[in-house]
Amino acid sequence: MNSTDTAAILVIEDDLTTRALLADNLRAQGHQAVPAKDGSQALDILQKESVDLILLDMMLPDIAGLTILEMLKANPELRHIPVIVISAMDGMDGIIKAIELGADDYVTKPFNSLFLKARIASSLEKKRSRDAVEAANKAKSEFVSVVSHELRTPMTAIKGYSDLLLAGTAGTLNDMQLTFLKTISANVGRMATLVSDLSDISRIEAGRLKLEFEALSIADVVDDIVRSSRQQIEARKQRVGVEIAENLLPVWGDRNRISQVLSSLLSNAYKYSSEGGEITIRVKNGLASDGNSAEAHLEIQDTGVGIHPEDREKVFEKFFRAKDGAVRDETGGGLGLSIAKNLVEMQGGRISFESKVGKGTTFYVTFPLASDE
Ligand code: ADP
Repeated sequence: MNSTDTAAILVIEDDLTTRALLADNLRAQGHQAVPAKDGSQALDILQKESVDLILLDMMLPDIAGLTILEMLKANPELRHIPVIVISAMDGMDGIIKAIELGADDYVTKPFNSLFLKARIASSLEKKRSRDAVEAANKAKSEFVSVVSHELRTPMTAIKGYSDLLLAGTAGTLNDMQLTFLKTISANVGRMATLVSDLSDISRIEAGRLKLEFEALSIADVVDDIVRSSRQQIEARKQRVGVEIAENLLPVWGDRNRISQVLSSLLSNAYKYSSEGGEITIRVKNGLASDGNSAEAHLEIQDTGVGIHPEDREKVFEKFFRAKDGAVRDETGGGLGLSIAKNLVEMQGGRISFESKVGKGTTFYVTFPLASDE
């Protein structure tokens, strides 16, 4: 669509006279009319040409108007095109169904030119605003993605050199130098996590995060994560117990991304628990929500500060962190759970939690089994 008001409008109408009348009308409004006599022809045209708006007759000889609408809205390439349905005066039931299925508007036959013009202008205006928001959002995601990528190289250098200094490679350090270096190293570690989270969220939002699926043992992933977090957990005088069911079936997922999810949940469990806290990780085969098939069930339970009922809906939102002092004392960017939820759902699983303030929280995660693939 160009900056003036000219749009390419697909007219799906089986009646020759109405089709010609609509096309004349659209041309008189300065638009380009693309006529189609039935559903199949319209779908053919949509494969080859891009249009800005669709006028769709509800009564077609081959495919019903509502079925075409469903097909359009189920297609990621076409679902953004606004659809105005054309219906008979007494077709209110059909119009309601069409609006429920995602039609933007409707006109009734015999149509009035001024009315049609106003409906088209309003649908095109809405589409323009939606396109502008989408473009701005895409530009923002691109920007975050480029910036986080560019930050990675200098950060790797800072981390590498501070690790070398800490290891004594450049000579012995006095106590003060050692303390300062440890602070540098810890902070660059925090920055690296934040940058990597920002990069993940921008790739998820832009639909550019690719997963590599394989059949894997979730018990192995749990083992790795617990081993790499043990030091932090013990430093807080907390304990972690792992209960893995026998005969655990392999899951179908992306090993690194499942590991990222578990690592986020485990680090939250120890960050938001005080000294002496107990963390329990359970993995077992469970029943899927359809009540028939099996799936993997994972629980991470802590005895920490808990999540307030009023924060229930917010914890999976980007950048959300509870106002609690116990939470604010810990480092975090508020992206871990939002990324975890996306990653779990992209792998066909679900994530939820139960929590009691002052008593603790249990996160539940499911993953599909490899045998279902
Ligand atoms: P971050 O930990 O970086 O703040 P997350 O997205 O992982 O971000 O978590 C969002 C918020 O949810 C946390 O700041 C905290 O308020 C709450 N939260 C998450 N996990 C727990 C938990 N196990 N116990 C208590 N609060 C939690």
